[in-house]
This record gives sequence, structure tokens and C-alpha cells, in this order.
Amino acid sequence: MVEKFLVGGEWRTSDEILAVMFPYDGSQAGAVYMATEQDLDDATAAALRGFEITRKLPAYKRTEILMNLHRLMQERFDDLVNTMIMEGGKNYKTAVSETTRALQTILVSAEEARRIEGEVLSIDWTPAGEGRQGFVKRVPIGVVLGITPFNYPINLACHKLGPAIAVGNSIIIKPPEQTPLSSILLAELILEAGYPPEALSVVPCYGPRAERMVLDPRIAMLSFTGSAAVGWMLKGKAGRKKVALELGGNAGAIVHNDADLDNAVSRISVGGFANAGQNCISVQRVLIHHDVYEEFVDSLIPAVEALKVGDPRDKDTDVGPLISMRDAERAESWVNEALDQGATMLIGGERNGTLMPPVVLSQIHPDMKVACQEIFAPVLTVMPYQDWDEAVATINDSDYGLQAGVFTNDIKRIMDAWDRIEVGGLQVNDVSTFRVDHMPYGGVKGSGFGREGVKYTIEEMTEPRLMVLNLT
Ligand code: NAD
Repeated sequence: MVEKFLVGGEWRTSDEILAVMFPYDGSQAGAVYMATEQDLDDATAAALRGFEITRKLPAYKRTEILMNLHRLMQERFDDLVNTMIMEGGKNYKTAVSETTRALQTILVSAEEARRIEGEVLSIDWTPAGEGRQGFVKRVPIGVVLGITPFNYPINLACHKLGPAIAVGNSIIIKPPEQTPLSSILLAELILEAGYPPEALSVVPCYGPRAERMVLDPRIAMLSFTGSAAVGWMLKGKAGRKKVALELGGNAGAIVHNDADLDNAVSRISVGGFANAGQNCISVQRVLIHHDVYEEFVDSLIPAVEALKVGDPRDKDTDVGPLISMRDAERAESWVNEALDQGATMLIGGERNGTLMPPVVLSQIHPDMKVACQEIFAPVLTVMPYQDWDEAVATINDSDYGLQAGVFTNDIKRIMDAWDRIEVGGLQVNDVSTFRVDHMPYGGVKGSGFGREGVKYTIEEMTEPRLMVLNLT
């Protein structure tokens, strides 16, 4: 069956069909019609009409629609999980946790829809303002274009859809070409939940075609999650529209000599390999104080060895396939290049198609690709350090700055790390991979622009509007 796409509430077909492949064995998992340029223009026109309806929806109604969506997603939980397993090769455990998180994102959006408050301002700070009273309210920004990546196709779409509905924007989702089916399923549920149909489009197409919407001045905001290369390129083309970018990283962890090593090993062996390392906050660079380096590595290797690699449909698989053969070959070539440059493989194994067994590398130079670029695969590097300042400097020696983890029980070091580590979020006694969906989330440097996390997205998706009453 070929899935239709959605343009302003209307399900459409086209002459182009995109086959969606199961990354584990290359079999076909489904197919979707692709939106044409005309469909994208129609989606924008419908979104403008839809916004005239959604911007007038009262808060209780927006909350009710999001609560309906929450209930429908609970009812279709297994379908959401299975769609992600088949189109993205996501292992069952991660697919369940992503769907659970997506439910939370929608629930928090329903709650926040009631809390879009304003401010009362005194204007009479100067004689010119005497006798005047100011008020600020937040108004929905208009048409939002959400472009989403393959690696968390449901929750990251919900991070755009939930806040957009909460404030009364209309929204067009451009899903990734590898995993469009889960966005189509979400669209069905949002319509059933009662959002005005004109206000919602989901338009699968190859990336470059979507640039016409990025260029279109009628779209008020681009909310992009994906790679740094594409995100920053699109920001350069977005003109006057508001832009939010959630991009990649090569996150680091510092394990100091006073840390609880069992906790560090247990968190890092999960955080480096969850979703087969295809995670913008995956732990990639681990810096370990030289006093505890041997002990840490000796415990890490068996913990990584215990991860089960295989069929993502199996309930006990920890590490499933990479999204495509091309991505698996690229990651393998970076590992081989590092080995040629002097790295040592502490654990690894033969790649089998898209399945890449977890790799841990030591003897790392900071300029190896496995250290300085985003590998987006189940690959971890370990490096000893002599002193704390050197570890902080190494973490900061990166084009990226999304999240980082530090393992120490010394409060002064914790506060120092919080001051000096250049990231959007610091996790203490935990890994960069930790995220709950209401916290502010986003990066500095190459990792992004703006913050997600429902309340913070709501701020980005609204404009403050001032009114001053002259009472003289
Ligand atoms: P990608 O940049 O290749 O694609 C992301 C989206 O952009 C897709 O929908 C794609 O079709 C679209 N796109 C590509 N070229 C385009 C163009 N010219 N114009 C308009 N749209 C275009 O990223 P990906 O491979 O799908 O995802 C992996 C990347 O996403 C990694 O770098 C990862 O770190 C990042 N990511 C970041 C976060 C975050 O919240 N910070 C979350 C998940 C993934």
C-alpha cells in the first residue's frame, strides 16, 4: 500500500512514489507518494487560511485537541512503535521509549497551552510615560515549517507539532525521506483529534525540494532538526523568517578520579550506543582521569560486550542497524582511518551490512574524524587526562556544544564545569544523552540556534505583542 500525504487536511497522491526500506535487511517496509512543488505551494496557502482559524482557538480547545491526540497516540502505541522499527530500524526498546516520550511531549504541550501568559508593565519610569499602562501578550507566530530528521521521527515531530498546536499556529511538516511513515500516522491522529484540517500538512519529499518553503516569505518560522551542514545552510536562505536549529554534536563525558565508576560505566555504556549511536547527544568522547583510566576501561569493555546486537524487532536487542548501508560504510571507514592513524580498537567486530557491532577506540588524537566530527554510529573513544583543566579544554575543543556529562562528586568541580563547559546543557553524574522533554534543550556553537522543550519552543513559536494604554 502506498500512503497518501496531507495538504491542508486533504489526502493526496502524485506521480512519484518513495519506497521506504527496513534498514535491517533491505526489504521494503512501505511506500509513500511524494509531494510536488505545487503541493508544497498549496500546503503553504492552506496553512495561511488555517492560521486564521487556529489563532482564534481558545486555550481550553487547544488543550482538548492535544489531550485527544494523547489518547489516540496511546491507543495506537503499538502501531507507532512498529512503524518506527520498520522504517528506521529502531530497536524495539528504543522505539517504546521514544513513543513514551512523545506522549509526554504532547501531554506537556496540552498543559502549557493553558499557561501562555503575558506581563503588566509600568511605563512611567520616565516622565514621558506618566499616565500610561503597558501590557504584553504572546501571539502565535503564523505558519511554521517543521523539518525533521530520521533518527527520532515521532518525538522530534511532536516537539514541533505539540507546541504549534498549543499556541494556535498552523504547521507544515517535511518528514525525512528515510522515515516518512510515522509522520503520516501522526497526521491522521492529529486530524482525528480535531485540529482544523487546513492548518496541518505533512509533505514528504527530498530535502532540496523543501527549500522553496524555506525561501517563501509567507512562512513565519523554520523549525529545523537535522545535520549542522543542512541547518546552517537553510538559515542562510531563510530571509526574515524566525529560525530555530537543533543540530548535531560529538558529545563528551569527563570521568574524574572521585567519581562513582560503576555509575559512570553503566551510564556511558548505554549513552554511547543507544539507537545505535544515531543520537545527536550520543556520548562520543570519554575523558577519564589517569588514576582511574585502567579500572574504568576494564569495567567498560564487558559492559559494552554485553550489549545485544541484532534484529531490531527482537525485544532484547540493544543495538540495531544503522539507517543505511551508506551510513554504515561511512562510519566503518572513519574507524579504519583512525586505526591507520594510530588508534587502538579495544572492542569491535565485523560489520554485517547495516549492523555495526559497538566499537571502543583508545589512543585517540583530537583531530581524528572519530573524535572531532559527529560519527552518528555505535562508536566511543576513550582518552586519559592528567588534570581537570585539560579535560575541560578538550571537551570544549569542538565545533559543537549540545550537551556534556561530568562524573564527579566535588561540588567545586561541578560548578566550574557548569561555568566553563560550552554546551546548552550539562549533565552531572550522568551522560549527555539524558533528556526529558520539558527541559530546555539545544546547543551552542555549531550545534544549534534557539531551544526546544515545550515551554521554550512555545516562546520561539510566539511573538510578544505590546499594548500601551494612554490614560491621561
Ligand atoms: P539531515 O540534515 O540529512 O536531514 C534532516 C532533514 O532535513 C530531513 O528531513 C531532510 O530531508 C531535510 N533536508 C535535507 N536537505 C535539505 C534541504 N536542502 N532543504 C530542506 N530540507 C533538507 O539529517 P538526518 O541525517 O536526517 O539526521 C541526523 C542529524 O540530525 C544528525 O546530525 C543529528 O545530530 C541531528 N539531530 C539533532 C537533534 C537535536 O535535537 N539537536 C535531534 C536529532 C537529530
